[in-house]
Amino acid sequence: MPPREAGGDANPLSLKLRERIGRDGPLPVSDYMQVCVSDPAHGYWRRRDTIGAAGDFVTAPEISQIFGELVGLWCAVTWQQLGSPRPVRLVELGPGRGTLMRDALRAARRMSGFIEAATLHLVEISDALRHLQRATLEDSRGQTAITWHQDVAEVPDGLAIIVANEFLDALPIRQLVYAGSAWHERVVTLDATGALVFAQGRTIDQPASVPSVAQPGDIAELRDGEQHLLARLAGRSQPLVALFIDYGPASATLGDTLQAVRRHEYADPLAEPGTADLTAHVRFGGLADKARALGLAADGPLTQAEFLGRLGIAERATVLMAANPGRAADIEAGVQRLMAPTGMGQLFKVLTVRSPTLPPPAPFG
Ligand code: SAH
Repeated sequence: MPPREAGGDANPLSLKLRERIGRDGPLPVSDYMQVCVSDPAHGYWRRRDTIGAAGDFVTAPEISQIFGELVGLWCAVTWQQLGSPRPVRLVELGPGRGTLMRDALRAARRMSGFIEAATLHLVEISDALRHLQRATLEDSRGQTAITWHQDVAEVPDGLAIIVANEFLDALPIRQLVYAGSAWHERVVTLDATGALVFAQGRTIDQPASVPSVAQPGDIAELRDGEQHLLARLAGRSQPLVALFIDYGPASATLGDTLQAVRRHEYADPLAEPGTADLTAHVRFGGLADKARALGLAADGPLTQAEFLGRLGIAERATVLMAANPGRAADIEAGVQRLMAPTGMGQLFKVLTVRSPTLPPPAPFG
């Protein structure tokens, strides 16, 4: 057997990162996350089978078709509330396997005129997932024009209804560590054996969004990608409503929420980089504050259980179970998973961001 390398594993991205840190110095956590997802040869986004029971993690639309259906009805009702404008840009950020949009379009077809008025815009950075989305949405393409984009800035003008489930959690975060009366950048560096480890980096200027006094060792998290996205939305010339569904607290809190998930198990975020889904909590209070500071309005957050409950998940499940008695137990189990007070129902939150000229959408208004 070849001798064990310094740092422990022969994962190619780990080797590349260790070389880079050895040459250029420690990497901020945000840069580390960015490399793990986007490295052109070994990044996580190159993988195809990441989402679903056979992959690394399962999302709400993969648990129950009712999730996408209710989001689709929400889009159609919101469009109607806005006076049924034509055209309307129906935008999804980070569509994963395309499952949510497939179920949403099927349900939204019941609202007369909506699908005909809509052009569909999928903002997706992963080529592997774009292929899956194309296959999943094959049947819908005849009725609705679909365009893929790298960034929301490419979505053409026009009133926009935007949905994003578990999109924000995937955007890289910076982590700050409090020590000696100041915040420091948290970095990834090498220990004496050459292995990747977290460490405290340089002192930074006090950011406005984190408390100026904290306990030694406290960790704060900042997500610049939220700011970038909200600024793009605020800059659109036509009104918009965006629905963000994700996991995280309603109000700002400190703490390390960076997590790696591989094959449905938590993993060490520094082990085998590029082979696990790396995410962190969305702080909904902070997200709403950022939106308002840019002149947008925000409603919520509601918990996922409140949101789906108000949209009629129980009624929809009853109808679906009656129509598919052989699948009734599965349908019920899926709904329970989405609604569980000790699980997704409570941890996941729903926030809308909208142009201030528009009324709050249902079920927030
Ligand atoms: N919404 C889907 C998938 C969630 S996983 C679901 O609920 O199942 C996160 C998704 O966001 C993936 O499709 C991922 O490739 C995409 N993504 C992550 N970062 C992105 C970025 N910066 N721009 C566009 N898409 C991104």
